[in-house]
Amino acid sequence: MGTGTSLGVPIIGCSCEICNSTNPKDQRRRTSAHIEIDGYHIQIDVGPDFRQQMITSQIEDIDAILITHEHNDHISGLDDIRPFNFKYKKALDLYSSPRVLSEIKKNFYYAFGEDRYPSAPRLNLVEIPTDLFTLGSHKIEPIEVMHGNLAVLGFRIENFAYITDANYISPSSQSKLGNLDALVINALRKEPHPTHFMLDETLSLIDSLQPKKAYLTHISHDMGLYDDISKELPDNVFLAYDQMELQL
Ligand SMILES: [Zn+2]
Ligand SMILES: [Zn+2]
Repeated sequence: MGTGTSLGVPIIGCSCEICNSTNPKDQRRRTSAHIEIDGYHIQIDVGPDFRQQMITSQIEDIDAILITHEHNDHISGLDDIRPFNFKYKKALDLYSSPRVLSEIKKNFYYAFGEDRYPSAPRLNLVEIPTDLFTLGSHKIEPIEVMHGNLAVLGFRIENFAYITDANYISPSSQSKLGNLDALVINALRKEPHPTHFMLDETLSLIDSLQPKKAYLTHISHDMGLYDDISKELPDNVFLAYDQMELQL
């Protein structure tokens, strides 16, 4: 699994110490994850850095795409799934909520319908149910979380869960996040933000959910340096970084 972080560091022309750090763990490209489970490859989100993330991680297969929500930092790399269309000679299955699928159809209008542009990406849009569904032979549990006023999907796969862009998780959704070996969850920075958890909010949620380990993603360059922030975190909480790999 690779966990990219956010929000597009290095920011062009930014002179901050994070954007100019030489530590690879301060690299914060747009957030996504790639999960390989028994040879089945699931890509969660396809943002603007998708192509480079796939090349750097040398990932050569995608069996299914899961999309958390329709913001561009999570979908705008979808043109770059074409090498997988060429490789498999078929459309890729993309799973999300009905609202997200309809926004993807609007954004990538040239990839759908009778007038589709011939070399556009080929996507087979699949609505997911609100409860468990199966990808390959694996049960996936969608978990609704709030991103400001927007409902966003998190996903649980066995004892791993991936939540991004949240700033509120209801008690019923939190009840689906117990007994985790690893929780990937967003924390934008220390200062408050209207639609993303700030660090203290994420840490108190982790404290109540009690995953064995938690990894903070969707980190902005306002968060501070990896080496500095890591010292402030509880023993079971880690900052994610670009191309991070977890073995579970
Ligand atoms: Zn978002
Ligand atoms: Zn985002």
